Amino acid sequence: MSEKLKPETLCVQAGWQPKKGEPRVLPIYQSTTFKYDTSEQMARLFDLEDSGYFYTRLQNPTNDAVAAKITALEGGVAGMLTSSGQAANFYAIFNICQAGDHFVCSSALYGGTFNLFAVTMKKLGIEVTFVNPDAPDEEISAAFRPNTKLLFGETISNPSLEVLDIEKFARIAHHHGVPLLVDNTFPTPINCRPFEWGADVVIHSTTKYMDGHATAVGGCIVDSGNFDWDAYAEKFPGLCTPDESYHGLTYTKAFGKGAYITKATAQLMRDLGSIQSPQNAFLLNIGLETLHLRMKQHCSNAQTIAEFLESDDRVAWVNYCGLPDNKYYALAQKYMPNGSCGVISFGLKGGRERSIRFMDHIKLITIVTHVADARTCVLHPASHTHRQMTDEQLLEAGVRPDLIRLSVGIENVEDLLNDIKQALEV
Ligand SMILES: *Cc1c(COP(=O)(O)O)cnc(C)c1O
Repeated sequence: MSEKLKPETLCVQAGWQPKKGEPRVLPIYQSTTFKYDTSEQMARLFDLEDSGYFYTRLQNPTNDAVAAKITALEGGVAGMLTSSGQAANFYAIFNICQAGDHFVCSSALYGGTFNLFAVTMKKLGIEVTFVNPDAPDEEISAAFRPNTKLLFGETISNPSLEVLDIEKFARIAHHHGVPLLVDNTFPTPINCRPFEWGADVVIHSTTKYMDGHATAVGGCIVDSGNFDWDAYAEKFPGLCTPDESYHGLTYTKAFGKGAYITKATAQLMRDLGSIQSPQNAFLLNIGLETLHLRMKQHCSNAQTIAEFLESDDRVAWVNYCGLPDNKYYALAQKYMPNGSCGVISFGLKGGRERSIRFMDHIKLITIVTHVADARTCVLHPASHTHRQMTDEQLLEAGVRPDLIRLSVGIENVEDLLNDIKQALEV
């Protein structure tokens, strides 16, 4: 499908293009396996000489159609779905890093990603250095080593809501001859397309806005096709030298711009198997069909609520990059001028106890450990995800004891405001 189509059209139409007599709606190919007529046909698939389906752990038509839709939305050349956002981040890095390698990462990061990078990948012999994303170029550059293979950041970090200076990060990564990988979960390609600013690979937890209804955990990796792996072949032997597990095939030579995703599919998915189920991909596709409509409503509701909270004198502070006095307002205006995301954090005067009282009195808004779905929800990290920590430990971890994370949904904003107002009154 033409890349010239606008995002709204891609949300609805990209990915599945039925031929004559085929289902109009993307079918769920609920089949582990696919049929061939000759032994030779099957052999050619195993050697990556033909493309086609043979076993769902490697590829499935439902998943491929949905990956193609997300790839079109991001403006990339190839994409793959994974079982979760965690799996997507792991595969995206493990595809170009092995034991003995190193990468540099923004410290403004989702907690699960932090654990994956700092603890689990370390056990595999891959080291990470975290950098303050707002530091000057030279300070971030100083973290690079000869064995550094990539730079990583989140376009809007979860939960600290810091906006990444994508152009700056791309400049630093490319100066060191490595790609920039960004997790674009919070803005989605509706609000921000990191490839247009120099990012090389984009990762999503599709569990959040893309699915949008809290029905299916999933992830996605999209390659821009822009990074010239062969220009730094000594850094990326997995892509630029023969793969013995495919009879000596070299991914960059055989697949060109598709090398990175083909390797992730043919090697990592084959061996590690974190596939998305076709059933979940089907649900994800239905979510994507309305992503453009929902993002607009999430952002306008969040903007209204953030402005109300900022104006209320019972509220101690509000963090939302759509507010002009926010530290990241200018970056948000540059990279996501039509809106950022629906997640706000704020604190109430009266600290932890007051925040707990607020949480106990909201009615329409519910307490759940989730963000970015159609229903407005809240979480108080000090009494939930971080409840074992003292106020001092919380502050050290960058989580204020009074912090309430509000994920604004797509309901009527007056109803949401009324719920917040009555809970503040208690
Ligand atoms: C939720 C989230 C993840 C992890 O995704 P799962 O689908 O829960 O595995 C990664 N990055 C960001 C920014 C997230 O919000």
